[in-house]
Amino acid sequence: MTAECPPFPGQSSGSDAGAACPDASHLAASPPGAGAAGVQGSADPSAPDLEAEWSRAIKALNGAAEICLACHVRPDGDALGSMLAVAHALRARGLAERPSGSAPARIVASFGDRPFEIPRILRFLPGADLLSPPDLFPERPHVMVTFDAASVDRLGLLEASASAAEELIVLDHHASNTSFGTVNLVNPAAAATAVLACDLIDRLGVEMSRDIALGLYAGLVTDTGSFRYSTTSPWVHRLAARLLETGIEPGVVAHELWDRTPFGFLELLSAVLGRAQLEPDSAGGHGLVWTTVTRDDRATHGLPFEVVESVIDVVRRADEADVAVVLKEDDGGNWQVSARSKGRADVGRACVALGGGGHALAAGFTARGPAAEVMTALRRQLQGGADGAGGADGGR
Ligand code: 5GP
Ligand code: MN
Repeated sequence: MTAECPPFPGQSSGSDAGAACPDASHLAASPPGAGAAGVQGSADPSAPDLEAEWSRAIKALNGAAEICLACHVRPDGDALGSMLAVAHALRARGLAERPSGSAPARIVASFGDRPFEIPRILRFLPGADLLSPPDLFPERPHVMVTFDAASVDRLGLLEASASAAEELIVLDHHASNTSFGTVNLVNPAAAATAVLACDLIDRLGVEMSRDIALGLYAGLVTDTGSFRYSTTSPWVHRLAARLLETGIEPGVVAHELWDRTPFGFLELLSAVLGRAQLEPDSAGGHGLVWTTVTRDDRATHGLPFEVVESVIDVVRRADEADVAVVLKEDDGGNWQVSARSKGRADVGRACVALGGGGHALAAGFTARGPAAEVMTALRRQLQGGADGAGGADGGR
């Protein structure tokens, strides 16, 4: 048992972290061996295998002269928060005595976006000085760790570095993870990648600090929707308590993440909600609500793409629809599609079929072409899969 992480939840409702459902039990396969012991009391039936992976990961990190960290493009609180937490921990470990007594490892941390900009709502996280742009990332890292990326393409400009890395440690909780690492620390039952990052930090023997806790807490609140989604267990609250005990302020985090927006966003929201469509017969008759946010919408109000990420959280409130979808046009003219399910439909399966990824209840994909055609393709996937979501692979 490692230091202090509370044991992993015995009963998790499945792979829907980041999803918007109070009860996803009909989507989640109850994991065999739930509540079993083992490090973190993992509910994952493959826990013994994961244990071997942890050993290999720690060995690689302990022996590395340079450690390269990367999270997915357009990072959210879980991706960036987890990565920065581990970067802080590795730096702290480097300053303390290393197990081998050798020089501290060099830490490189980045994400593959150009332009390389920390999303505005995440700028309160400590550790911007630990980040460098993707151009400075090694082309062939010896040891690389990825955070919250379900597939290698989610690393954007850092995909090639990941593919060339000698040891690639994948830390993730997406059910759709493709196991693209040489070491795959993937637990679809984890509420956030931050849970795995916390485990890693404990296994490295680094003491919990305020800076580490802030990153992990940002990940935990982001992916549990402020402890509202169905992955929120007593264990998750115990982990949150442990993080809060370092003195971080939950009110400040919530304010930075959710309670700030430019006035122009309110005007944009009015236009975007005004054109929302409700289709009661779609998604296997469980209802679909959807809208679009175009480049022009953003240009009118001078808003960057990241500001419209939260539109889905408003649209998905429509009671009449199980599935909510927002098509967001990025600066390159692609549709970045966000999909959410309240539990009847498996949007993860639908989005994977369209080349994307995610969880059963929160997923996305990228598409080109007229919005109407993108919706036709998605509707078809949702129609086929809506009532099959509760099947054996519902929790994927
Ligand atoms: P969001 O709608 O918040 O951007 O994403 C919801 C979930 O879907 C997240 O787990 C995210 O990683 C995943 N996701 C969103 N867009 C894409 C995409 O284009 N490709 C893949 N593979 N996953 C995506
Ligand atoms: Mn996540």
